[in-house]
Amino acid sequence: MIATEIQENTARYVMNTYTRLPLTIERGQGCLVYDAEGREYLDCVAGIAVNILGHAHPDIVEAITRQARQLIHTSNLFYTEPQTQLAEQLVQHSFADKVFFCNSGTEANEAAIKLARRHAIQSFGPQRIEILTMLKSFHGRTLASLSATGQPVLQEGFGPLVPGFQYVPFNDFEKLEAALTPKTAAIMLEPIQAEGGVVLPDTDYLKKIRNLCDERKILLIFDEVQTGMGRTGTLFAYEQMGIQPDIMTLAKGLGGGVPIGACLATESVASAFGPGTHASTFGGNPLACAASLKVLDLLLDGGKLEEGRAAGEYLAQGLTALSTQISCIREARGMGLLQGLELAIEGKPLVLECLERRVLINSTMGNVLRFVPPLIISNAQIDRLLTVLSDALSKRN
Ligand SMILES: *Cc1c(COP(=O)(O)O)cnc(C)c1O
Repeated sequence: MIATEIQENTARYVMNTYTRLPLTIERGQGCLVYDAEGREYLDCVAGIAVNILGHAHPDIVEAITRQARQLIHTSNLFYTEPQTQLAEQLVQHSFADKVFFCNSGTEANEAAIKLARRHAIQSFGPQRIEILTMLKSFHGRTLASLSATGQPVLQEGFGPLVPGFQYVPFNDFEKLEAALTPKTAAIMLEPIQAEGGVVLPDTDYLKKIRNLCDERKILLIFDEVQTGMGRTGTLFAYEQMGIQPDIMTLAKGLGGGVPIGACLATESVASAFGPGTHASTFGGNPLACAASLKVLDLLLDGGKLEEGRAAGEYLAQGLTALSTQISCIREARGMGLLQGLELAIEGKPLVLECLERRVLINSTMGNVLRFVPPLIISNAQIDRLLTVLSDALSKRN
């Protein structure tokens, strides 16, 4: 099928929920993807922060291939080694004691919401069900995680939402404190608001929330679906913030491109789930777990975490330099390889112009360009991105 036919048939047969860019991707290698005509694009979207080690990483391909030959799927009625090993690895490298596996970010957050409610109800009684989340947050599209998402435009037309969520502005500790009630079971937030425009937490904001949670016996849930797996320079973003959550969710980069999500928790919280309380048919299947084990191995023992951290510093420097030279850039900000440029103009036309120059980027919140390339991006590739950005933005200055 030629690209135009694919695009027409997508419009004909696939539900119309995405605003797609005019590019049909056929294959990928490292930080590059190719269309059917063999044109090469530098991929700084990377599946929206999913392809953490790039496309077709030979070790991941090998791990998936080997596991596919052996066993793709069984049921959680039985034990499998890859699931056990992955849980052990995640526990060893995080605050958590226990893991629940699922297949996506929204499912990981559903698990976190259910776990927090069940723990709070068991500990404090049936009225303790409220979860405080942030305006401009993003937690997913299924009904409970959509209800947790503090963006009315995404919730429009899907009511009634799941009750028990309250929203406060990110980085406003006083409003958060004022919103707590005896019913508050948990505070749920992204340590960095990614879809919300790459918004970093103010100094000590998260520490103050942690203290408040300890004082009031409220659970702290970190949605690290986008910030986790080395994206911000450490395996998890919370490591750089001097505190630990009680529950953390992961997905996106976790499987290096293979769908997998996870909800991690301390023992005392995780013990609220017992047999039959929560489940997933595909969750923790051997194929996805084998991919994820290889991702962790490459990050932790293969030096990719350090590589990503260095690349993040190089990109941040370049974007900061651009922001001093080009007046339509309001601010360059980010952590590791989750970087953003807030503009005084709309982001979408720049995304299209970069696409024409064969660099894939993404925009969010209307005027923030977001860069989430694979951790293996080279300085030369970052230079290519910076040159294209500089040209496109200078024209609009
Ligand atoms: C992408 C994302 C989600 C949703 O993940 P899906 O796999 O699309 O369900 C949830 N939270 C955050 C922070 C995300 O970036």
